Amino acid sequence: MADLQLKSQLPDIARKIKSGSKLFEKYRTKRGFAINADEQLHELLHAGPRGVQSPYNKLVLRLGEEFAKGDDECIARFNQISVDIERLIDQLALRLDNAEGEQGVVFDPEVEQEWESELHDTLEEKMRKGKSALSEFVQRRWKITPTVLLGSPVNHSSLRRMHGSPYCPGALRLQRDLNASILDVATTLPNGESFRCEECGLELKDLELPQQNHSEEGWTAVARTHVRASISLKDRRAWFMCVECQCLGREHYTVSVRALIHHLKEHVKLKKLRDRLDAARSTVVL
Ligand SMILES: [Zn+2]
Ligand SMILES: [Zn+2]
Repeated sequence: MADLQLKSQLPDIARKIKSGSKLFEKYRTKRGFAINADEQLHELLHAGPRGVQSPYNKLVLRLGEEFAKGDDECIARFNQISVDIERLIDQLALRLDNAEGEQGVVFDPEVEQEWESELHDTLEEKMRKGKSALSEFVQRRWKITPTVLLGSPVNHSSLRRMHGSPYCPGALRLQRDLNASILDVATTLPNGESFRCEECGLELKDLELPQQNHSEEGWTAVARTHVRASISLKDRRAWFMCVECQCLGREHYTVSVRALIHHLKEHVKLKKLRDRLDAARSTVVL
């Protein structure tokens, strides 16, 4: 089981819960009484796959491949959770089988209510255990609580805590040396539409406009702001965080190159305005 990773375990558990949701619907249809939308077990089975996958997705965006792998303890705990949930789903499958063989048999609503409620509580407990396993893994490995990471898509302070700076070393080099170009830290990808940073391996790409539509100077300004966080494990585009805003104690981040260039131009306009005002003030003083 050493090859198991969180990124395959979580979708597998989510799939199991989804199959449970379908079995429950079938079961109720066989029994001939409808499911109310607010019934606890139905609600939990329905929302379960997203409930399992969503905390994982949020954390993997911030922590990357290392989080996707998990560690031995985390993997072992999810193995157990997976086995337990499979058992619960088997119980549902068995009930459905029995219901099929008992067509016309009158069932006792109270007995039904009892086992459904028991199944609900057990499933809820397993899902809670899953959340704790993720949370404790993050605390064990990164010494931070996941809530620190879940506030925004790119959390400045958590990146700083993990790497010393939210910016990629390639971006920092461009910030230090204003004569350096994007081509000093990144290579053009064969499609000619994006760059890959040689330091962090992330892609610097404009989804709206191809590479040719921005000047090398424009791309360099963009590369200067990229941080060590990607959209997802599959979409390896980097997030950008405005350096000017950061100097002013604000966090402005985006994944859109076009929006970033527009934003950076606003800073230039503001700076020119400020310079003009300063000049006007000094004229008055004179
Ligand atoms: Zn980089
Ligand atoms: Zn800014």
